[in-house]
Amino acid sequence: MPMNTHLSLRHPLVFRQLEVRRVETLTPHMRRIVFGGAALHDFVSAAPDDHVKLFFPNAHGEIVRPTIGPNGPLYEAGVAYSPMRDYTPRHYDAQAQELTIDFVLHGDGPAARWTAQARPGQAIGAGGPRGSLVIADDFDTYAMFGDETALPAIGRWLEELPAGKRAEVFVEIPGHADRQPLASAAKFHLTWLERDGADAASSTGLEQALAAWQPPAGDTFHWIAAESERARRLRQMLAERGVTKDCIKATGYWKAAA
Ligand SMILES: Cc1cc2nc3c(=O)[nH]c(=O)nc-3n(C[C@H](O)[C@H](O)[C@H](O)COP(=O)(O)OP(=O)(O)OC[C@H]3O[C@@H](n4cnc5c(N)ncnc54)[C@H](O)[C@@H]3O)c2cc1C
Repeated sequence: MPMNTHLSLRHPLVFRQLEVRRVETLTPHMRRIVFGGAALHDFVSAAPDDHVKLFFPNAHGEIVRPTIGPNGPLYEAGVAYSPMRDYTPRHYDAQAQELTIDFVLHGDGPAARWTAQARPGQAIGAGGPRGSLVIADDFDTYAMFGDETALPAIGRWLEELPAGKRAEVFVEIPGHADRQPLASAAKFHLTWLERDGADAASSTGLEQALAAWQPPAGDTFHWIAAESERARRLRQMLAERGVTKDCIKATGYWKAAA
């Protein structure tokens, strides 16, 4: 009898200074950056959709992060803090103490600009992961719907799924050249949804795919990550089908400009 019990973990908050070791262009809109540093010796990421908070250099090229008080981060007036963005630990190699992160090159924004110029030797700050939601491993099927920012989590999840599980995966990407090889011991069915010039925030590729999709027999966990409004809409579509909350995790990975 399946239990479908998720596990919520908290980790001590650790800030680390990392150094870029290698930069690789995976596809036209994605760069893989491998970070190293002794500070990674106790890095832990328990779930494939964990995130770290990356601190990018400020206008003076410095990493400046807030101090942490009893009620959270403390910001002083007049200090040029580093822009901070969320990224998925795509892979952690404990032996080499190396953390791999895949960055979308979407155009503008401190993280995207930094990624475009990144080269070995540069420094970056990383906080967390602060917590992990480890999704129950006894669902028959894991259904994943995401845009290109979700690809690192989806790729990692597929790699971690054992044989005997099934995954149904829908990934919306800018175009054909943005497809990337994904591997799993589980049986998975992958559908690439190419926007071909359509806007990432107003595209409806994922919504159409979800509307046409029927879950296979057995129980299914549904995971969604995309632009915030679209993630909300996709979650709503599942709720209207009667899918219960404990079988859905939907997260806005970025916010379209108002
Ligand atoms: C839990 C979590 C995990 C994430 N993991 C990853 C990851 O592994 N890799 C990754 O690349 N991203 C990931 N993201 C998304 C990433 O944090 C955002 O895309 C972030 O906004 C990028 O910051 P920026 O400084 O480049 O742009 P911002 O300064 O945040 O935004 C600047 C402008 O760009 C637009 N914009 C931001 N992101 C996108 C986008 N992807 N496509 C089109 N327009 C965009 C905004 O609407 C805004 O108009 C994750 C987000 C979350 C919440």
